[in-house]
Amino acid sequence: MEEKIDFERLRKEMVRHQIQGRGITNENVLSAFLRVPREEFVPLEMKNFAYDDCPLPIGFGQTISQPYMVAIMTELAEPEKKDKVLEIGTGSGYQTAILCEIGCVVYSIERIPELAERAKQTLEKLGYDPEIIIGDGTLGYQENSPYKIIIVTAGAPEIPKSLVEQLDENGRIIIPVGDMFSQELIRGIKRKGKLIREFHGGCQFVPLMGKEGWK
Ligand code: SAM
Repeated sequence: MEEKIDFERLRKEMVRHQIQGRGITNENVLSAFLRVPREEFVPLEMKNFAYDDCPLPIGFGQTISQPYMVAIMTELAEPEKKDKVLEIGTGSGYQTAILCEIGCVVYSIERIPELAERAKQTLEKLGYDPEIIIGDGTLGYQENSPYKIIIVTAGAPEIPKSLVEQLDENGRIIIPVGDMFSQELIRGIKRKGKLIREFHGGCQFVPLMGKEGWK
């Protein structure tokens, strides 16, 4: 008989060791991580590894990011209830769910239609209600701009100009910038129309493809 996995215990351990243990303190972020069932966002054959300290494949050459990476990006964004957030790279929808759980109003863009559709179904099943858009996220989503927060979950050659334009005054953009294989995690804060950049260490993301990304 197959052994039943105690996902709730694994989730608590992940939060304690991988997230709090590495210095994440934002209560909104920690409680969202305790509530979102990560096992729902990974393919069936990966469920046993859902709470491992690494990214996992989700098909189409893409990944669900490492839990800690989702946590640090979310903490840097400083999300509050009702904040309007644009996410680029829906992927599995896990980061989207964390933002929804915090109470943000989330618009999320994914370029691979099959991933967007699957994420939409998972999010609906769990009772989250973000707007998922299929398209090139490097161009942002003008219709609902400006955004308090923009989170880009794929590695960019530079910060897309369209995204900076669609960021609100005092808004934050969190984005990995570098080459195709490794990047630096950047937080840009918009002050008087200009982007002030902070650097938050090395990371590795799949490439951000698109008109203002990798061609
Ligand atoms: N946030 C995701 C999660 O929690 O599962 C991780 C996303 S994965 C690391 C990066 C995603 O960005 C991929 O699904 C990829 O297809 C998508 N992507 C890459 N370039 C894009 C673009 N220009 N617009 C929208 N999505 C893009």
